[in-house]
Amino acid sequence: MQEIRSILQVVLLREESASRELGAALWATLQEVELLYNTAELRAKFDRVYVAKTRPEFLKEPFVLPQATVNAGWTQLWSKSGQRRTYDTETLYSRTRQLLGERGRSDALMIVTDQEITPPPRWRYMIWGGSGNEIVISVAPTDPRYWGIQAEDSVRVLTIKHRIRSACCSVVGVELGLERCQNPRCFLYSSVDSVTTLDEMVCLGPEHKLPKLSGLGFESVEESESESRNLLVNFAKKVGLVKSASAKDVQEPRALGKSFESEASA
Ligand SMILES: [Zn+2]
Repeated sequence: MQEIRSILQVVLLREESASRELGAALWATLQEVELLYNTAELRAKFDRVYVAKTRPEFLKEPFVLPQATVNAGWTQLWSKSGQRRTYDTETLYSRTRQLLGERGRSDALMIVTDQEITPPPRWRYMIWGGSGNEIVISVAPTDPRYWGIQAEDSVRVLTIKHRIRSACCSVVGVELGLERCQNPRCFLYSSVDSVTTLDEMVCLGPEHKLPKLSGLGFESVEESESESRNLLVNFAKKVGLVKSASAKDVQEPRALGKSFESEASA
């Protein structure tokens, strides 16, 4: 991998319901992405910020912007021309960088939003889009409700969380210089042609020849569902990697996980 780069992860939620129902889970997701890639050595410097009208109570500055800043930029952030349902990725990241000011000048910007992003012609939807170091990931199509599926609340949140995490791991992996692959269980799988493809992506495959990361990943939705009831409350404790290839000890990720608990209570 190359020099250490800075990656700013932004949770950008327009709807209050999205913030209330998914905010904490999306935040935990971004922490898990850092946990994975910074296992055993520092590979990227992550910064995170939550931008929404209302936010989870445990998040304080600097992980949220001052309310006055959010309020002042809100209308401009979400303005649309005409009756369009979707947002262009360039529009979203340029407005987000503007809102974040100095903080937005990271090497890479990764936005996770509840809004739909404009797909290329003839595509029905797009999970993520952007160019180079600026990526927008849309939660909308990862939501079972988007497809008319009425899942139990906990299953819905876990499903979205898993899919967004797979998408983020994929995007960050590329940002860190990893090549896409043909392994459907791997985060770098090249053919993400539907949201259900993201369900099968659970680890970093051995094909990337990174022994310290090989096989590291997260439980599938089914595996984590049984202990999901306290997910939103105990999300910091939930941050943890699993080794899918063997039952190898995961001491280091756990130690890293501790710093996230202080993030939650900062
Ligand atoms: Zn792979």
